[in-house]
Amino acid sequence: MAKISFLADLEVEPCTGCKQCDIVCPSGAITMVARKAVIEDPKCIGCGRCVDRCPEDIMWMVERAEPMEKTVRPDEVPVDEVTRLLDACGLEAKMSVCVCTLTSAQEVAGAVVKGARTLEEVAEMTGIRSGCGIYCVAPALRLLKAAGADMTPPLGHRWYDVTVALWDLPPEVRERYPDAFLAEDIAAFDPDGRFTPLEETHQ
Ligand code: SF4
Ligand code: SF4
Repeated sequence: MAKISFLADLEVEPCTGCKQCDIVCPSGAITMVARKAVIEDPKCIGCGRCVDRCPEDIMWMVERAEPMEKTVRPDEVPVDEVTRLLDACGLEAKMSVCVCTLTSAQEVAGAVVKGARTLEEVAEMTGIRSGCGIYCVAPALRLLKAAGADMTPPLGHRWYDVTVALWDLPPEVRERYPDAFLAEDIAAFDPDGRFTPLEETHQ
């Protein structure tokens, strides 16, 4: 579960409508209304990226009166659907997929089962991406893709439908870089060949 203690705020009048804050917002909390930025408070996960990005320096963070909790509880979604999705992605239910909030794979899968179809929606429901925004993205994208989500990011946003894992690297790459011990690492991490790329299993 993520505890969100901060909230973005801004001085509206000098806003130029450049959209930089909207583009970097990981939870879709900012929209442009009449060429001015508007923050939806319940969607803000307090990451501070908009403050860093605003070229007019008219944004800041405030402390929430009460920390906001972001999670999808197991009793909110059918457990068998969550388990199926986790299995499809090779994720363990209790493992933390976000090192900043310690959000579990089960929570992210729950958000997808509950209807999230973009990374921004997952972030808004679970609070992932509120810290570094690095390690949580790959498992969240895997879960979204496994659920059949359209992997096109919202207009102006950037994330990629490629979350390469060690075992996705083709044999020729492993052979080209023997000093990287890729084959040895795969053997150690995936001894049963559970995540062996499909094309290899058909050879
Ligand atoms: S989630 Fe981050 S980028 Fe979005 S409004 Fe809140 S502080 Fe700004
Ligand atoms: S980055 Fe600053 S100036 Fe640009 S739209 Fe957002 S609040 Fe307005």
